[in-house]
Amino acid sequence: MFFLFICFFIRIGRKNQTLQGQKLIEVNWKQKIEELKLEIEQYKIENASSVEKFRIAYLGTKGRLKDSMSLIAQVPSESKKEFGLLINDVKKMAETKWTETKDRYENNGEQKSIDFDLTAPSFQSLSGGHHPISIVRRRIISIFERIGFTVEEGPEIEDDWHNFTALNLPKNHPARDMQDTFFLTPDLEWMLRTHTSNVQIRAMERNELPLRIINPGRVYRNETISARAHCTFHQVEGLYIDEGVSFADLKQVIYFFAKELFGSENIRMRPSYFPFTEPSAEVDVPCFICEQKGCNICKYTGWVEILGCGMVDPAVLKNCNIDSEKYNGFAFGMGIERITMLLYQIDDLRLFWQNDIRFLQQFRSNS
Ligand SMILES: [Zn+2]
Repeated sequence: MFFLFICFFIRIGRKNQTLQGQKLIEVNWKQKIEELKLEIEQYKIENASSVEKFRIAYLGTKGRLKDSMSLIAQVPSESKKEFGLLINDVKKMAETKWTETKDRYENNGEQKSIDFDLTAPSFQSLSGGHHPISIVRRRIISIFERIGFTVEEGPEIEDDWHNFTALNLPKNHPARDMQDTFFLTPDLEWMLRTHTSNVQIRAMERNELPLRIINPGRVYRNETISARAHCTFHQVEGLYIDEGVSFADLKQVIYFFAKELFGSENIRMRPSYFPFTEPSAEVDVPCFICEQKGCNICKYTGWVEILGCGMVDPAVLKNCNIDSEKYNGFAFGMGIERITMLLYQIDDLRLFWQNDIRFLQQFRSNS
């Protein structure tokens, strides 16, 4: 009887212990979920890389939420549903926090972490430069501008009158052979200009005298390309028309030009022939490339021709309706390539057209 009594008390005691234990576990899992919820709420995501850290810590396969799921084994069966609802809410809350912060960092570049080195040396910025032909063209223009010449330009596609006939080069005249060109029409009426003299004809036709112009520009001739010649090149021509102009004026202008450009008046004038000037001359300077020892540029003579010049032929003035009894003048013309080669000691004209950066960058400081 006493034994039964004791057993009864023991059973009651065990039942009470089980109830208390259940209560403790219930408090424990609820508290743990609450703690986890609070932890997720308070987690600070400060930069783009901590977004991923947050995901791994809470939503990853070995994260805190997955770990908390295992608590279900300790939850009494009547509370399992409640447990499920609570843990699901926390999971949703963590997922919302993760997706929102992730979107914010992805869409806002300012908040992305700075992952470049501000102390690294900067990239070298390369400045451009002018082509040597442009540099010399500008120098020539500036010299003539100082003595009152103005720049005038004209078309590169020209008709027969302005390129040949008006310049005292009538059709079938043998002097046309000196300037074989690229004709554009079968009747040979239109062509690429062979010199910038067409601009002079157009200026004289306006009949606004006196005239003191220089005409820089590109010209074309049917020539075999070599170290000394090209089918496309650049010229500067000059024209001075007024009353009482003499050959002495022409000489002084050429002396001034040579001194300004080459630093010396050491030039040589040779009689020559041009259809549009009478008398005519060619001007040579000492060959700077070989220092007059002889090379292929100076054809082993020690002298290089830099320009042709002369007094404008009265027939040309007449073609432009200028009274040749009242007015006269002089004209000159030079190739910019030839002068550039002399100034910079370049021995092959083809270099100007090859766009080789190693060649061109040598002129950068001269621009
Ligand atoms: Zn030479």
